[in-house]
Amino acid sequence: MIKCSRCDRRAVIFQRHSNRHLCRRHFVEDFERRVKLAVKKFNMIQKGDKIAIALSGGKDSVILTYVMNKLYSVRKDIELFAITVDEGIAGYRPPTVKIAKKIADELGIEHLVVSFKENFGMTLDEMVKRGDKKPCTYCGVFRKYLLNRTAREMGATKLATGHNLDDETQTILMNFLNADMERMARLVPQRVQEGLVMRIKPFRYIYEKEVVVYGLLNNLPMDFDECPYSEFPVRAVVRDFLYEFENKYPGRKFSVMSSFEKMIPCLKSMYPQIDLSRCERCGEPTPREVCQACKLLEELKG
Ligand code: SF4
Ligand SMILES: [Zn+2]
Ligand SMILES: [Zn+2]
Repeated sequence: MIKCSRCDRRAVIFQRHSNRHLCRRHFVEDFERRVKLAVKKFNMIQKGDKIAIALSGGKDSVILTYVMNKLYSVRKDIELFAITVDEGIAGYRPPTVKIAKKIADELGIEHLVVSFKENFGMTLDEMVKRGDKKPCTYCGVFRKYLLNRTAREMGATKLATGHNLDDETQTILMNFLNADMERMARLVPQRVQEGLVMRIKPFRYIYEKEVVVYGLLNNLPMDFDECPYSEFPVRAVVRDFLYEFENKYPGRKFSVMSSFEKMIPCLKSMYPQIDLSRCERCGEPTPREVCQACKLLEELKG
């Protein structure tokens, strides 16, 4: 039996980045400590916040909902609720919507399901058949739109997503490789923008593997199915590179994150907050006259 580096119990995980074996209790403690650290460092949660959790029903979002509920539902000055966007992807989305409903129900969290079909008149599957853009373009634009609008209409002050350290470091490196500093600046936490509910990412210091182990230890339902439209060739290369690099030099994903965080003051001054106007068709915030969602809808319906 391999023992925990901090006590005599059996270890359930070897944390390569800290070179420690941890038992269930010490792993859970360390995991939750790092969630709280991220929340505190970026002032993600304040007194009086109403937090919308983006709950797709995939593993990261389910575990995020569980952890947010565990850590913050005890606070009387904070409210939590969950939003699931049903894009309408046959075979893939229905099971995760079911998981989302189940977990929200078990935790006693208010839960809203909003669909592309009801809000835009067609499912993602139908959009893909009709339009000439990539599925992820429609999906990303309309999902963000619905999440933000629903959160704002519900009075949310924050929108929490399940992006973990692996997701974030992939995006940071991709932006760097594409010399896209403007997009990099959009990753800066806590950029207040009018009309947009502020996004928070409490798992930014948690490895994807740890999310899975935490889910297993807490018997949480986890869906590992991949979306049939998933096609991210560059991200896949960057993901594999980071995986190999981390394997050889444990802790390097933290270094990538740390380098990014050191650039935050620069990014803020290079790309100061822009004043958003309202879309002249739907009234949602946009830097242009007509928002991207309305533009795409016009193409699809035209
Ligand atoms: S892979 Fe693309 S289409 Fe599928 S859920 Fe993700 S963004 Fe949407
Ligand atoms: Zn221990
Ligand atoms: Zn619009």
